Amino acid sequence: MSEPCKLSVVIPVFNEEANLDELIRRCLAACRSAGRPFEMILVDDGSRDRSAEMLEAAAAAHPEAIKAVFLNRNYGQHAAIMAGFEQVSGEIVVTLDADLQNPPEEIPRLATTMDEGFDVVGTVRANRQDSLFRRLASALINRAVQKATGVMMHDYGCMLRAYRATIVRAMLMCHERSTFIPVLGNSFARRTTEIEVGHDARKQGDSKYSFSRLISLMFDLVTSMTTYPLRLLSIMGLIVSALGIGFGFFLLFMRLIFGTAWAAEGVFTLFAILFIFVGAQFIGMGLLGEYLGRVYNDVRARPRYFIQRVICGNQCEEKMR
Ligand code: UDP
Ligand code: MG
Repeated sequence: MSEPCKLSVVIPVFNEEANLDELIRRCLAACRSAGRPFEMILVDDGSRDRSAEMLEAAAAAHPEAIKAVFLNRNYGQHAAIMAGFEQVSGEIVVTLDADLQNPPEEIPRLATTMDEGFDVVGTVRANRQDSLFRRLASALINRAVQKATGVMMHDYGCMLRAYRATIVRAMLMCHERSTFIPVLGNSFARRTTEIEVGHDARKQGDSKYSFSRLISLMFDLVTSMTTYPLRLLSIMGLIVSALGIGFGFFLLFMRLIFGTAWAAEGVFTLFAILFIFVGAQFIGMGLLGEYLGRVYNDVRARPRYFIQRVICGNQCEEKMR
């Protein structure tokens, strides 16, 4: 059997001083037990507590295993992970949160699942320990993502995931500011699977996501995968216009039968006309949206395609000889 490939673990850290010691200890133990070369890349996302110093100390104490990356200010979880991605040298890249909600002990299992040849291994949180609101929002979003990307995964919110290095390189080619990494990763993957992992409640510190940050994350997620909401404007306009026209015909018909006094002396006719125009406005907005969507897609300049593998006939021949 060939040598097991190297594992890189990327962890974003933002004001997690209370969790760092345990995180590093448990992660190191888990990685060592995986029985393969590994590195841990901890990205400090502009923490204002002692996290940065602690990361510095950890990198000094375990220079062979830990790389610390420092961002000058807070850029957000997904940007921090991207910064970590730039430093990875392993073939298998695992991301997880620093708050120990994702048990580091699951890392070896993710790696062995990757060995079966998957590009992305997602996870499903068994007995998820989050508030009802968070779980409802997640369920809604997961459905939307499944529809838009066509990739059946049940839990896009869980950051404990493994990606192949080729997928990470493809993600690094995407230069848009707002990204949602699990969705972005899947858009470049060919073979994906999911495994079930444990999930713990946050023991130390608070969630870094306030209500408004969650909303903005939701928009990042939606806009990172599709411009369909813009098209929705056109569709809505079409429906409203069609209803307006239908209503107009209905009024005409009723007036022919019941006379002019029917439907408040023509007031309702005005409504019918209004509906048609309102619908037309929405169609116009939707059209603008279509242009905007295309401009947006060009501006973020994602790679137009992603070549996963090239098999060259000559080389194969040479190999066989
Ligand atoms: N995080 C980060 N930058 C931020 C917000 C969060 O690097 O601006 C990190 C945080 O340290 C943690 C992970 O992202 O490792 C997830 O954050 P959190 O646990 O607060 O999110 P939740 O579990 O509430 O979704
Ligand atoms: Mg958390």
